[in-house]
Amino acid sequence: MNLPKRMLVANVAWAQEIARRDPHFFDTLAQGQRPQVLWIGCSDSRVPAESVTHCSPGDLFVHRNIANLFDPADDNSMSVLEYAVAVLRVKHIIVCGHYGCGGVRASLMPPAPHLPHVNRRIRPLCDLAQAHRPELDGIAPEQARIDRLAELNVIAQVQRLRGHAVVARSESPPLVHGWIFSLANGQLRELASGYESVSATPNFEPALKPA
Ligand SMILES: [Zn+2]
Repeated sequence: MNLPKRMLVANVAWAQEIARRDPHFFDTLAQGQRPQVLWIGCSDSRVPAESVTHCSPGDLFVHRNIANLFDPADDNSMSVLEYAVAVLRVKHIIVCGHYGCGGVRASLMPPAPHLPHVNRRIRPLCDLAQAHRPELDGIAPEQARIDRLAELNVIAQVQRLRGHAVVARSESPPLVHGWIFSLANGQLRELASGYESVSATPNFEPALKPA
């Protein structure tokens, strides 16, 4: 059986299992969505939003792209944010990066000639790396340097989101949080809490231990 076929078969089993546990689950699902969280994460296959947080269909409104970037000039990012805040009225926005991020690693290397779209996409990350060049240059192991930039990137997206008019001028602005996921142990770490952002300064400490 080919992979897509296996996935379709697995879907049938999944739907039956959910319905067996909760006969009304799909009726409720079909009536509409009321997620409380907008998740902005990396496209990396190893960081599936619902799986790592034990969430269910209907819990998260999700936007994923390479290196979990929020780009106000990108209609994809902006339309998701606008809909989440203005229509769904989410209470939280979670930016989730991860250690070992390929997009972050790429931003510290020369542009790959065969990846023009990726190069353009991660341009803000290259600028961020440049802005933190002294600190990053002082981190010797390459992986630790990449992981530190992954943290700085999460913080940068959090700040950008908190300052964006769609969030800041909302009737009831959602709280914006910054998390990072460790592939090494499957755990999330909070880099910035929306509950402690009154001054718009993320609650951020240097990395305890890159994973
Ligand atoms: Zn990534």
